[in-house]
Amino acid sequence: MSDKLTAKQVLAALKAGNERYVASLASTEHVSIPPPALVHEHKPSAIILGCSDARVPVELVFDQGLGDLFVIRVAGNVVAPSQIGSVEFAAEKFGTRLVVVLGHSHCGAVTACIEALVNPEQYYSPNLQSIVDRIRPSVLNLHEIATASGDDVDMDELIDRSIRANVGMSVSQLKHGSRILEDMVNAGDLLIVGAEYDVATGKVNFFED
Ligand SMILES: [Zn+2]
Repeated sequence: MSDKLTAKQVLAALKAGNERYVASLASTEHVSIPPPALVHEHKPSAIILGCSDARVPVELVFDQGLGDLFVIRVAGNVVAPSQIGSVEFAAEKFGTRLVVVLGHSHCGAVTACIEALVNPEQYYSPNLQSIVDRIRPSVLNLHEIATASGDDVDMDELIDRSIRANVGMSVSQLKHGSRILEDMVNAGDLLIVGAEYDVATGKVNFFED
């Protein structure tokens, strides 16, 4: 992808790439050998904050080649200072204009957070707990609503809703957790959108305003 494209054009390219991927038409030639030009050129067209889940390999999912995507992966696609710093780095240094927060169905990190709510005895290491704690705010309300009626909670539905809420929270944290990013968004220089990858179908659904 060219670095001359607008955020909307890059977004359209990612959607088209995912359609090729879903249709099993993904190109493979551009991931065979790194072109020498990449030594001197690092101009990613999009920044992706995704989950570490092995089922969501970002370049494959969007049918993009080496050098096209600046990818940050962390369990639960949570936003901590290092993730914000990484986005700031790419947006400022490379002029990348699009950020996609990519959650996915059957996310283990979100499920772990819900399990901790359902079972307060659940123990996670402090490091894993720090990830769960970042997911918790987006799950807490949904869990309270689901349990308020006293009926059995549909856990699958709660997990699905929580995954989308967690993506939304990460988008909001990137938009408002950094003056640099907030100014770029307000100036129209940066587009930050959420999306969810369906592990069963390979389809990426974008959440656009
Ligand atoms: Zn996940």
